[in-house]
Amino acid sequence: MTTIALKTRSRTDWLIVHCSATRASATVRAADIRRWHLAQGWADIGYHYVICRDGTLETGRPEGAVGSHVRGFNQASVGICLVGGLDPNGKPENNFTSEQFACLHTLLGDLKGRYPGAQIRGHRDFSPDRNGDGKITPNEFIKACPCFDVTQWLASHPLS
Ligand SMILES: [Zn+2]
Repeated sequence: MTTIALKTRSRTDWLIVHCSATRASATVRAADIRRWHLAQGWADIGYHYVICRDGTLETGRPEGAVGSHVRGFNQASVGICLVGGLDPNGKPENNFTSEQFACLHTLLGDLKGRYPGAQIRGHRDFSPDRNGDGKITPNEFIKACPCFDVTQWLASHPLS
């Protein structure tokens, strides 16, 4: 097991949604992602939560620890990973199950209750705004992750 100590996070400004970038047919669980991340030499799985294809919520890194999921923002964010996001050819695709979206909605409601000041975004929203128009547009995405528009989804599924 790991001997690298995790650091405690002092603030939570962002709740950041990711995907595992695996095909819809792949039944990936938190234990698998933890194994991949440990193999890269990381202290632990990079995300705090993993939402499996069947909508099961699994815990990753302790919620109060600094994660490893978005460059420059790990000190102030919680990372949530939806399993899936690639089509059979390995291209980005919004192929998450209704159970996953339901679980994400409940989890975000819970987290927002505990971190009322935190803003909810997708990983790709942290790409640089290259043309400086104040919007992160698809041509500027450094990654497709999480393969759907989190802000748009929240607008149509508001947290109560
Ligand atoms: Zn991501």
